[in-house]
Amino acid sequence: MNQEFATNLPNEEPSMEEPIDQQPSAPPLVNMDVVAGYDKMNAALPPPPVWQVTTPSSHQEGDAQPVVPAVSEEQARQALAQYVSSNCCYGSRAVRDLVFTNISPSAAIHYQLETFTEQRKAGWSSEPYNGLPIDGPENGPAPLPWDIVVSPPEMFKDNKYYREVPHTASVKTCHSCLGSRTKRCGKCNGKGDVLCGSCTNGYRTVYRDGGSHREKCHQCNGSGRKRCLTCNGTGTVSCPTCAGKGALKCYILLVVTWTNNVSDHIIERTALPGHLIKGVSGKIVFHAENRQVAPLVAFFDDGVNSASQRLVQQHINQFSDQRILQQRHFVRMVPVSEIAYSYNNNNYKFWVYGDENRVYEEDYPLKCCCGLCAIL
Ligand SMILES: [Zn+2]
Ligand SMILES: [Zn+2]
Ligand SMILES: [Zn+2]
Repeated sequence: MNQEFATNLPNEEPSMEEPIDQQPSAPPLVNMDVVAGYDKMNAALPPPPVWQVTTPSSHQEGDAQPVVPAVSEEQARQALAQYVSSNCCYGSRAVRDLVFTNISPSAAIHYQLETFTEQRKAGWSSEPYNGLPIDGPENGPAPLPWDIVVSPPEMFKDNKYYREVPHTASVKTCHSCLGSRTKRCGKCNGKGDVLCGSCTNGYRTVYRDGGSHREKCHQCNGSGRKRCLTCNGTGTVSCPTCAGKGALKCYILLVVTWTNNVSDHIIERTALPGHLIKGVSGKIVFHAENRQVAPLVAFFDDGVNSASQRLVQQHINQFSDQRILQQRHFVRMVPVSEIAYSYNNNNYKFWVYGDENRVYEEDYPLKCCCGLCAIL
């Protein structure tokens, strides 16, 4: 379309800045002041490099493999009995009559690394100006984003915090109503009245005495329109952006996000699915906490060493635009017994794992085959 004819464009609002985390948005960026240290808005503000220090942690790594307790036949039978009774229609006869052929104890190893990070973002925000004193640049230069002292309420817990950056506030004419405090009413489009919902052009058809009659509408007195209740007939409403104040307090909003980033590595060498290990108890054989932990190098199982080195490096690379506040890692040994048994001349297997003696099996001989479980 030729630009010349594009005269009937809707009365568009000025474009708004991308809101940061659903906070109120501010007038267009072009109207805002330039504040030193805050040229990168609504993006992560990487921490000063001085924070990227690796502090070697002094720790004693598990240099000897701990002895893993094996379950006895009695414990294994008990665990299986409990498991069978918790499955609605598994038959318990096999538990009683099975013959153990082998119990092979081992230990799963669970390594976990947690990196607690802080990310800072800043963006222009605004709110209706209430007339109270503001903290503007006349009070001094704004502190740099990472110089503002903010502490997480709890370590290794996700959290968020918002705060106005000192000395960045200013009062600006509302960009939405241009200071007039009002906006055209959207309901009646500024007309002050709307179509009457009870009639057509002021008249309605009523059925009386066996016939239909055209009558003047009493709701609108025959005019076909009614007063707009949204604006009370005035055609304008209080400006929602500035709440009718005509002015906005604009300031830089600092958004601090704390995140606990957790990575797990599980070494489980039997056919027991490794992910099950995370849900049961075991024995912590190593743990350390520091600003930045040093990866394990001398743990007796080399799979743990390589997982630790890989994950520590991965976290350092991954969170380079954040400040690492604290790290911790641990190694847990979880007992796993692989149990072979025979029943009715067939061989089966199940696993008892965790301090809770939880059971995992796939081929218990007396499983429900009637399909009733799905119904129950
Ligand atoms: Zn009417
Ligand atoms: Zn209206
Ligand atoms: Zn306004």
